[in-house]
Amino acid sequence: MTRSHDAHRHIGRLPAYGFYGGPPVNPDTTARESVGQLFADLDREGTERALVLPNYGVPDPDVAFALNHLALEAAQKDDRVRCGLWVSPKASDAARNDAALALAGEEGVAALKTSFLLGGGVDDPDCAAELERIFSTAAALDLVVHVHTSPGAASDVDQVGRLVERYGATTRIHLVHLGGGMSGHLKLVGGRFFDWIERGLKVYTDTSWAIGFAPTWLCREVQRRGIGHDRVLFATDSPWGRPRRRARPARCRHRRPRADVRALPRELRGPLRNLTSLPPHQPTAAHRGARHDHHRDHHHAHRRRDRRADQGEHGEVDG
Ligand SMILES: [Zn+2]
Repeated sequence: MTRSHDAHRHIGRLPAYGFYGGPPVNPDTTARESVGQLFADLDREGTERALVLPNYGVPDPDVAFALNHLALEAAQKDDRVRCGLWVSPKASDAARNDAALALAGEEGVAALKTSFLLGGGVDDPDCAAELERIFSTAAALDLVVHVHTSPGAASDVDQVGRLVERYGATTRIHLVHLGGGMSGHLKLVGGRFFDWIERGLKVYTDTSWAIGFAPTWLCREVQRRGIGHDRVLFATDSPWGRPRRRARPARCRHRRPRADVRALPRELRGPLRNLTSLPPHQPTAAHRGARHDHHRDHHHAHRRRDRRADQGEHGEVDG
């Protein structure tokens, strides 16, 4: 079985909710409510390392915030898991952010996760103070900020990309879902992602939720441009993304999946394989009680610190 690293998945089950005016439902059928269940999933899948975030998506801010402790518990149980803490861009959640950010320096924390799915916007004056606080805290503690992307409205990469412009020089930003849908893929892979990298901005993405053509196109653009191979992560976005029962390439798969990799310059072959299967975790000095980057092998640019994050988002319902 191919072993891999999951740059973004969730823990915790959401309460039933009547999304979009419908009856109360529980769509997160594979959500895990305990650290033991999470590790059992990782073992069964062959997932060697993972970044775990609180589940979110129902419009009760206390739900996601309450799961920060569960994510942290997972990260502190075994350093094969690192966690991200849920934080909100909304001023009405300032006190909740106080409690969450008080945990940001804890062992095992590698990321902060936020989303505009539950309200707010990049340029909404109501969000200015909390966004500033989220990104400045992340920069100070060398955490990655995960931000959900989805087409249109406040999570469109047109909007979320402004965070990259504003904070990407000093804070690592993980844009979940490869920009979010068809329009997001076209905007990101078509140029913005690579333009940001060339400008020195610390932007990352993952291929969870990506439409079929997009990972292959991304691989080809990485190959053609010769950059970006160390900025793309594999993520399941469990329980919202595609279940990963067995390690299976989700990246450069097309009718001749291996042809892409073989055609690459030698220095890119490994990194592109890593889109789906990262190298085995090699314990290093970083393990001596410290936090380490679960994507260390992936993001060599971050090796100097032990932390890392992933982010990912799930759907319109969860996050
Ligand atoms: Zn997610």
